[in-house]
Amino acid sequence: MSTKHLLQWIELGRSALHKNLDTLSRLANGRLLAPSVKANAYGHGLTEIIGLLAEREDVAYVSVHSLEEAIACRAAGWNRKIMVLGPIAVDSLDAVLEYDLEPVVTSREVLRGLGQRADKAQSRIATHLKLETGTNRQGITEKELPAYAAIYKRYPYLKAPIGASTHFANIEDTTSHEYAQFQINTFNRMITKMAQLGIKPKYRHTASSAAHLLFEKTRFELVRPGLSVYGHWPSKETYLSYRLAGGENNILAPVLSWRTRITQIKDVPADAFVGYGCTYRTTAPTKLAIVPVGYYDGYDRSLSNQAYVLIRGRRAPVRGRICMNLMMVDITDIKGVRLEDTVTLLGHDGDERLTAEQLAQWAGTINYEILARLSPLTTRITTL
Ligand SMILES: *Cc1c(COP(=O)(O)O)cnc(C)c1O
Repeated sequence: MSTKHLLQWIELGRSALHKNLDTLSRLANGRLLAPSVKANAYGHGLTEIIGLLAEREDVAYVSVHSLEEAIACRAAGWNRKIMVLGPIAVDSLDAVLEYDLEPVVTSREVLRGLGQRADKAQSRIATHLKLETGTNRQGITEKELPAYAAIYKRYPYLKAPIGASTHFANIEDTTSHEYAQFQINTFNRMITKMAQLGIKPKYRHTASSAAHLLFEKTRFELVRPGLSVYGHWPSKETYLSYRLAGGENNILAPVLSWRTRITQIKDVPADAFVGYGCTYRTTAPTKLAIVPVGYYDGYDRSLSNQAYVLIRGRRAPVRGRICMNLMMVDITDIKGVRLEDTVTLLGHDGDERLTAEQLAQWAGTINYEILARLSPLTTRITTL
């Protein structure tokens, strides 16, 4: 598909996505895969990613954060299972039946509400219980388990949770995995306690990308990788831990490239200021290219005077502040630049490459945030 008519677009590499899923599926080794498509599929575009996931037979579930995301998955044609990781308002619980969703439950009020609806409709609702093991975010404690077990017993169509899950607090940011081990121990203890209460969930699941890539014992019956589906490592520490344990290289490939076009070229003299706040001043006659992407589109303002973009396979430094919808880059040293030349903000151009990890480092954040903040309105194009 031609992009000539577009001034900004995101390319999604189909073969890269399949490569990543092949890797994650191989590690899952028969366990269920529940890729996370929250945050607009980590900025990649929910509709497009749902279409690509549906091409595979080894993806049983997708996991989302919110009810709105779950409904968007159904609208995109996803007819397999959907796990809702985040909270659902008590007054919105009818939607769980309407859209056939599997909520991860963290409150008694929600569980009771689901029980009432399931019994009234005489229709089973599959739920997952989120167990608190040390992240102290969502999750129910060991002490609360009997109360939850009682609610399950009270509603025949609720019956019992199909899944029990937890989420690690400190698995991405460190090469020491003691805290993760502590959380697994707590999880296992709570599963034993549930069994004593007559509850035996079919699917135990704890593994996000880092856990899935690094630790067999976190995989249980189902895994929930997110970032790695899109070809990124959760952190340097995760990659290092993986490699130190003898893991092979190149098992993940970034799926997304982000491009725009030069919409104006201008010569400015020496000692000229560039952009809001006059934060950059030329030291010599300079050729600037104006690029129609700004912080609204997800190009963080903290990249002002920090980042570079790729034009004709060369690096062009960002000059001055990133504006809401525009930025200025220096093309003085790049030969033959023309109006509407392609500008790469993320991805390959010739021998050069710009990664989400590099942008994150400049912006003082993590690759997750760089990707998740890409505007949902930008056109997505699927490529080979
Ligand atoms: C986001 C999320 C995941 C996926 O995490 P990644 O680090 O992106 O793989 C898994 N489980 C839960 C509960 C999450 O919120």
